[in-house]
Amino acid sequence: MQSDMKTPLLSTSSSATSESEAPPPSLSSPVISIIGSGDFCRSLSIRLVSCGFRVVVGSRDPGRVLRGLFPDGVELRSQREAVEAADRVVFAAVYPEHYPTLLGLREPLVGKVLVDVSNAASLSGGGRSNAERLAEMFPKSSVVKGFNVVSAWALQVGAHDGSRQVLISSDCSASKASVLQLARRLGFSPVDLGGLCASRHIEEASLTLFPSWGGPVLTTFLLFLFFYGYIFVRHILLPYLDKGENKFYQLPLVTVNETLPSVALVTLALVYLPGLLAAVLQLGRGTKYQMFPVWLDLWLCSRKQLGLLSFLCAVLHAVYSMCLTLRRAAGYTLLNAAYQQVKGGVQNSWVEQQVWRSDLYLSSGILGFGVLTLLAITSLPSVGNALTWREFTFVQSGLGYAALTLSVAHTLFFGWDLAFFPSSYPYFLPPVFLLALILPCSVLVGRILLALPCLTFRLTKIRRGWESRRQRPKHDPEPGSTGVDPPRNFGDI
Ligand code: NAP
Repeated sequence: MQSDMKTPLLSTSSSATSESEAPPPSLSSPVISIIGSGDFCRSLSIRLVSCGFRVVVGSRDPGRVLRGLFPDGVELRSQREAVEAADRVVFAAVYPEHYPTLLGLREPLVGKVLVDVSNAASLSGGGRSNAERLAEMFPKSSVVKGFNVVSAWALQVGAHDGSRQVLISSDCSASKASVLQLARRLGFSPVDLGGLCASRHIEEASLTLFPSWGGPVLTTFLLFLFFYGYIFVRHILLPYLDKGENKFYQLPLVTVNETLPSVALVTLALVYLPGLLAAVLQLGRGTKYQMFPVWLDLWLCSRKQLGLLSFLCAVLHAVYSMCLTLRRAAGYTLLNAAYQQVKGGVQNSWVEQQVWRSDLYLSSGILGFGVLTLLAITSLPSVGNALTWREFTFVQSGLGYAALTLSVAHTLFFGWDLAFFPSSYPYFLPPVFLLALILPCSVLVGRILLALPCLTFRLTKIRRGWESRRQRPKHDPEPGSTGVDPPRNFGDI
């Protein structure tokens, strides 16, 4: 089997070959077999043939399979004949519950690479994977997990339209290398996930729905519910119950537009808060070599999603704001105000302070939105991958804090001096912009404190691998020391 594994799968170079460059299958082309003649098999055979491979399909009853569903050149045979015809690689394109029916193929499969393309039936989170069970059934073949994350449709149309990534794992590195090479030849981007123990994760990958988005979406949704409910109670429900004022017409647009900026601002603060908490933990522990709590790890991993959700809320706020004047209610309100002004004999309603306030409010909002857009663009993998690590951290951290500062300024200019008037606290409820500012302002203050030289100095040292005395093992004196406890220095504070 070892000597077989040394045989190259493909005679040509390992570099990806495009469909147009692929030579037509000839008698010298490698033969790849597929067991099962269903949807996956059909799409895979189309792709393999177009990339220059000869394909033999193994069916329980080849006479029943519709020949016209397969491209020219594909041979339909019995399962045993197909396995025997394969040069080296055999795909098992049947459902895992049918694997036991393949046990009769043990002997012809000896020394061959058996590719398991099945998906998990449910998210059981544990237990043996389909690929591990297949490996137990065929101990003399080398089982490789792969191609299950690619749909039959993506296989057929080519890797350009569907996801290009193919996750691959196997305990036999030579067989895995062959399948990685094959995936590249088919135009996919194979990702080596290591041994067959990773196959459970690969099989479940196709069942998870946006796995990294659940927490951030739920957080944003709960924030939306909180602010929307708060505004509803403060602006609409209590005035209605108290004075009989009917402002329910504000629910679909005005209330949503008041909610969105608060959600965007708090969500943006949530992007930067875990970084500060991580820095405080490292400072407190005096080392970077201790694990963060799980919740902080998860939070740190959700920052991109939180940032994009904040951007989404900001975009919606911008669009809603532009539509505010299109409302019939806005027209009536303007006419009524103009009438009252004429009736009151006011010729000039210009208030210099309000002019400055609105211009500063709009300008800081537009700038903040612009910077946030830049952040969102650089979080796209295609753009982010083109940046160096230094450039990426500059944009995501430097410009991120700039976006947060501008958004806070936008909110402060909106509130102006409102917070100082008792009339702004009807029913003892503070204005919503004050609530929305609590977390972002705390984050900005925290960032400023961390920028103090004494803290920056210590944090930089810690992130370069320095550890405080109480973290160091007793037998490991500080470099250059005599082993005697050195006096406490600035960094040990
Ligand atoms: P399918 O269309 O139902 O084809 C399965 C094939 O298995 C049948 O054509 C049949 O071939 C064979 N088969 C059926 N019953 C059998 C039995 N009792 N014993 C032995 N063989 C039997 O399914 P598929 O969509 O091609 O999926 C096949 C595998 O690919 C599954 O494990 C699936 O998870 C995986 N997959 C599918 C897709 C996709 O988009 N379809 C994507 C990723 C992974 P013969 O009658 O010729 O023997």
